[in-house]
Amino acid sequence: MHLVVLGTGIVGTCAAAWLQRDGHRISFVSPVPPGEACSFGNAGSLSPSACLPVGMPGMWKQVPAWLRDPDGPLRIRPGYLPQVAPWLLRFLRASRRSEVERIAAALRGLLAPIFESYAPLIERAGAQDLVRRSGCLYVYSAQAAAARWRWGMDLRRRLGVDLRDVGEDELAALEPDLRGRFRFGILAPENGSTRDPSALVKALHAQCLADGATQRMAAARGFVRQGDTVHGVRLDGGEVLECDGVVVAAGAWSRPLAADLGLRVPLETQRGYHVTVASNNLALRHTVMAPENNLMVNPMAMGLRLAGSVEFAGLQAPPDYARADVLLAKGREMFPHLDASRTTRWMGHRPCLPDSLPVIGRAPRLANAWLAFGHGHVGMCGAASTGREIAHLVAGRPTQVDLQPFRADRF
Ligand SMILES: Cc1cc2nc3c(=O)[nH]c(=O)nc-3n(C[C@H](O)[C@H](O)[C@H](O)COP(=O)(O)OP(=O)(O)OC[C@H]3O[C@@H](n4cnc5c(N)ncnc54)[C@H](O)[C@@H]3O)c2cc1C
Repeated sequence: MHLVVLGTGIVGTCAAAWLQRDGHRISFVSPVPPGEACSFGNAGSLSPSACLPVGMPGMWKQVPAWLRDPDGPLRIRPGYLPQVAPWLLRFLRASRRSEVERIAAALRGLLAPIFESYAPLIERAGAQDLVRRSGCLYVYSAQAAAARWRWGMDLRRRLGVDLRDVGEDELAALEPDLRGRFRFGILAPENGSTRDPSALVKALHAQCLADGATQRMAAARGFVRQGDTVHGVRLDGGEVLECDGVVVAAGAWSRPLAADLGLRVPLETQRGYHVTVASNNLALRHTVMAPENNLMVNPMAMGLRLAGSVEFAGLQAPPDYARADVLLAKGREMFPHLDASRTTRWMGHRPCLPDSLPVIGRAPRLANAWLAFGHGHVGMCGAASTGREIAHLVAGRPTQVDLQPFRADRF
């Protein structure tokens, strides 16, 4: 089949790579080059343990304090609240304990096979050097401080995540740079990360091109349909790209495309920021998550990346780099000896559904349109498994992951 894949982030690229393995002919469509949207600047963590939704039980109690604090992890731009309010209500409903348990089980199904889902794609692209399995350390100022997150950690353990408590001395031995400020840790030894998320997408995408895919630098505006069948993709300027099927993987920009397929999905963007410290003088070996600081730290090829923050301001508003500066200040608090003389800042649009689950599946009532978007905070983690599942669906094979919780019409 000739399939048009909309989007050349990590999700579209992995879907295309898996579909090519079944012999399909791929045409990519994207207005920006591969790996340059949200997949460019994320924290690069590849975590089978990242199965908890963003909305957790009781979190709502912290929201007012977060919103009052200019250095807090959450911001809603003035004027954007009326637009995002219905989404936030759904988000709160999905944060109930029973919902969180259901969502975590679904996400675990998608994320547990991260490395086996990436392996054939990475091997074919010769990109092994971009991925490592060095583990992730969740770090806390004291063991007592970790109690606030214990319910979630126990839920992870119940779902089969390998998590090991690490005392102060062992923590300092594992990561000497954490000595002094952090006295307790939890090690997720199965986790990994990429040294450069954008380079990973570019390598996989280049391999797709080498294997016969083509690339159109254009935005899709809608579809040509007859009955339950999509015959073409309408590009900017009105040209129609004919096809036998389509995969919508346009990240945070997928909502109008889904709407043109007759679907209303509450897709919102949680904008996130990073600071990359090119002058990094630390010798971190693990990805470090510091829940008390709301910060993820990852040593990367281009420097030490500090990432986090959630900002609701939509797709059009310019970045507010004060949010990135907050991340740097937190990083300096964590690592007072960090040389931060050379840094770069970035903002990206996470594609987010209120229940923190992506949409993965065939578009309801359509024979040849498949949806793969909304991976929120775990797009790098979930992309390869998503791509493999899309290939199963296109081929009519049974899926490896239970895709019921990821249905597009669940809202
Ligand atoms: C600060 C931060 C840290 C993060 N850290 C992590 C992490 O450590 N681990 C993790 O797993 N995830 C992380 N994420 C989330 C992750 O980056 C995203 O989930 C992931 O990049 C989404 O990939 P995507 O392919 O869906 O979207 P994108 O990478 O945004 O790609 C979307 C694609 O769609 C294209 N497009 C847009 N409009 C159209 C159109 N009309 N027609 C055709 N194509 C279109 C774009 O050009 C682009 O190619 C983080 C995100 C942020 C912001």
